[in-house]
Amino acid sequence: MSPSAPEPTAPLSATELLQRLIRFNTVNPPGDEREAQEFLAGLLEEAGFEVSLVGRLPERPNLVAELRAPEGSPEGPVLGLLSHMDTVLAAAEDWEHDPWSGDVEGGEIWGRGAIDMKSQTAAEATAAMDLARSGWRPSRGSLKVIVVVDEEVGGAEGAVWLCENEPDLARCDLMLNEGGGAPLVFRGQRHYGVCVGEKGPLRFGLKASGVAAHAATPGLGDNALTRLAPLITRLAEAELPFDVDPAIREMLIGLGLDGDHPERAYARLREEDPALSAAIEPMGRITFSPNIVSAGDKINVIPDRAELRVDCRVPPNLTTAEAKERILAALAPLPDGVEVEWGMEVPGNSSPAQGELFDALQEWLGDNVPGAGIVPTFLPGFTDSRTWREAFPDLVAYGFFPHRNLELREQAGRMHAKNERIDVEDLDFATTCFSDVTRRILG
Ligand SMILES: [Zn+2]
Repeated sequence: MSPSAPEPTAPLSATELLQRLIRFNTVNPPGDEREAQEFLAGLLEEAGFEVSLVGRLPERPNLVAELRAPEGSPEGPVLGLLSHMDTVLAAAEDWEHDPWSGDVEGGEIWGRGAIDMKSQTAAEATAAMDLARSGWRPSRGSLKVIVVVDEEVGGAEGAVWLCENEPDLARCDLMLNEGGGAPLVFRGQRHYGVCVGEKGPLRFGLKASGVAAHAATPGLGDNALTRLAPLITRLAEAELPFDVDPAIREMLIGLGLDGDHPERAYARLREEDPALSAAIEPMGRITFSPNIVSAGDKINVIPDRAELRVDCRVPPNLTTAEAKERILAALAPLPDGVEVEWGMEVPGNSSPAQGELFDALQEWLGDNVPGAGIVPTFLPGFTDSRTWREAFPDLVAYGFFPHRNLELREQAGRMHAKNERIDVEDLDFATTCFSDVTRRILG
């Protein structure tokens, strides 16, 4: 486990650590996270952590670093600070700074992973290492810094592998991960979202069959593609019902809206702030996005087969069976010769928006951003939290990385996009949060 880069002489700040992490190209596929993981493992070990690098593939190890309470301390929770080291790709020619430069300019750190999510890796690891180097130890339980590989393509080598093959290393009681913390500003009031749940993808295809014929005589054929046309429109225009989930109810009430009547609340929100509404409305109901269509491959032949593939996301409060019922109702009436074929099915999942971790975040915000509200949110997408929730049913996992400056609507536009960058002050703010919350939980 020797670090591949020379040992730094002084501890790195969160900004310096993020710069170093960005300079390792960990675009997934192929990921190739080993060098970055070994570099970080070396730093954590030097700071006093017990570090394991484990995985199925030598080039893609997962990192677990642990700092336990001394022998004989009272029982306590295991707090996990989770992140992933891989990133999506970047087309350097579209960027103002090289995506693997880690340049600091205009008070911002630039590069692929600056938001999603080497920033959180850097903040969590810096907070943990600073605590350990200061001589702090948990007075109960233990602290784990967990950095997995392979999140961006589903986690088979990362979260899924680790939870299945090394459950003792992976096990946590409380966990902070990506997915929340950028402030929502509504009616001039600032609210911090703690991401307590994630929607699950439930993808499906619509397959149409018809009769092929020469395109010059359309009446002799039966065009499979045109059968799909009304369904594309129906899906794009579908308005599925909102559900009253306790977390979403609390969010709407927190924003000053009518949490008991979500239809009314979202209508109001749409009217007052369409951009914010577009970001948070999907949390409360099933959404569709018809994305891929395939049919004929010859311009002069009427296609006898056509397929439409639809991305669909289901909130945590609905079972897969309930969701399918609603989807079929939205598609009805299904034209003759069209069949539904179900694809990837991952149920939505969540943790309770209450308890000691929620309280700790609330107290921290109260101390550090006086007057700001805290509201539970759901992520329209999904993260590795779902894998941990499934493997450890009692675990409470939240997405949280508090920003001081960048708002939710701006952050959303920077993820997986060109010119990804993070505010240096936001990075330091989150680092302080992870340090303070760790001490609140573990003593
Ligand atoms: Zn991510």
